Amino acid sequence: MTDDPNAPKHSNALTYWIAGAIVAAIALALLWPNVAMHFEIGGELFLRSLKMIVVPLVFTSVMCGILGLGDVRRLGKPGAAAIGYYFCTTVLAVLVGLVVVNIIRPGVGTVDPARLEQLDKGAEEPKHVLRRTLAEESGLTEAEVADVFGEIPSAADDVPSTSTILKNLALMLVTDNLFQAAAETELLPIIVFTICFGALLTTMPRRTRTLTTLVSEANDALLAFVMILMKISPLGIFCLVTARFGQAQAEGKFLQEIQQIGWYFATVLIGLAIHAFIVLPLIFWIVRRENPYRYAVAMSQALLTAFSTASSSATLPVTLECAKSAGISKRSSDFVIPLGATINMDGTALYEAAAAIFIAQVIGMDLTLSQQAIVAVTATLAAIGAAGIPEAGLVTMLIVLSAVGLPLEYIGLILSVDWLLDRFRTAVNVFGDSVGAAVVAVTIPEDGASGQSADPQVQVSS
Ligand code: ASP
Repeated sequence: MTDDPNAPKHSNALTYWIAGAIVAAIALALLWPNVAMHFEIGGELFLRSLKMIVVPLVFTSVMCGILGLGDVRRLGKPGAAAIGYYFCTTVLAVLVGLVVVNIIRPGVGTVDPARLEQLDKGAEEPKHVLRRTLAEESGLTEAEVADVFGEIPSAADDVPSTSTILKNLALMLVTDNLFQAAAETELLPIIVFTICFGALLTTMPRRTRTLTTLVSEANDALLAFVMILMKISPLGIFCLVTARFGQAQAEGKFLQEIQQIGWYFATVLIGLAIHAFIVLPLIFWIVRRENPYRYAVAMSQALLTAFSTASSSATLPVTLECAKSAGISKRSSDFVIPLGATINMDGTALYEAAAAIFIAQVIGMDLTLSQQAIVAVTATLAAIGAAGIPEAGLVTMLIVLSAVGLPLEYIGLILSVDWLLDRFRTAVNVFGDSVGAAVVAVTIPEDGASGQSADPQVQVSS
């Protein structure tokens, strides 16, 4: 990585510690699940510490990114590059998902008919039962589940139309109360506000450096906080992983489910691997002519944290720090990564498309090419709309299922393995954002040393 010559060196030792912690955590969970579950509190404390700094860090890093660009007119090119990158890679991810699921056909003749009968009975249950199940499974509140795209449709005739979905996505951009958005960690409206605020600040004719210095020093302090959290992360990650795997092992349902829908699980994993190891590296190499796998290793702490927390938002501080260590210019990573963590979810998009087609295969519904195109479009929108929190994708998948008239109850088929699949797709989501920052960095001209603002009046710290 060559963008930022002053970038701190990446430490491999910590990556080994985190990887070791994950292996040890899984081993403990499999051997003594009841002991493992006691570590939940440690994991929760670590997760809360990460989440605690997300909102202020998003504000200061996006501000620094914008101020680093100097002139508001210079926002255009990197902004367009970021949006173009998010869109293209999400569509590519959906296509990979569709191709893999159509070739492997994991839903054909694999699921026990008795199980299907049970799910069909569920179809007669009132919709609030489904909402409650989803809420229990995902850890969201029932209101949050309903919020994703309005009420869960009660019949095929009140399926949300594409325009309703677009309208809801547009509403997600702007909040009527910035403080409420901050309190609920709704990052998208905070980013929109910060971009507008930062951009306007650069146009103020008699601007002093006060606010710029304040924001950049706050950003430095928050990043120092992230460094401390990263040092203790092997411990936090151990607790998070062992408690969750221990719970799955104690419930004993997981292995049974994997036997039943193992092909589905493998299909999504294969799709995610193709996207992460072939598609994204190829884009990285085409744009930068550098070794993409070396970059992936430099981002490994963020990727392992994503796997452990199942949340791109909670991982955001670590992603920013890793991108900086990997030498990606602050100007790019500071606004590409926070925005990407909120709207760019390649792994989620791929999974939504694959899971919807899997369910269609299970019920023997042959989707035509145009129906598959609808799945592709809605999976893209559903991934954009999914928050960077655990299992948000499971909930927004209702949009995809209802768009092609698939029974929502069949989501029950994939519920019990989703918590694990979520970890893999979150890691791919975070890798997609990291590659995005590296790609967009190419469109931002260097103005001398790193941290030197394009605006001669302003110096943004690095
Ligand atoms: N957990 C994912 C993330 O935070 C979203 C999802 O459920 O797919 O990126």
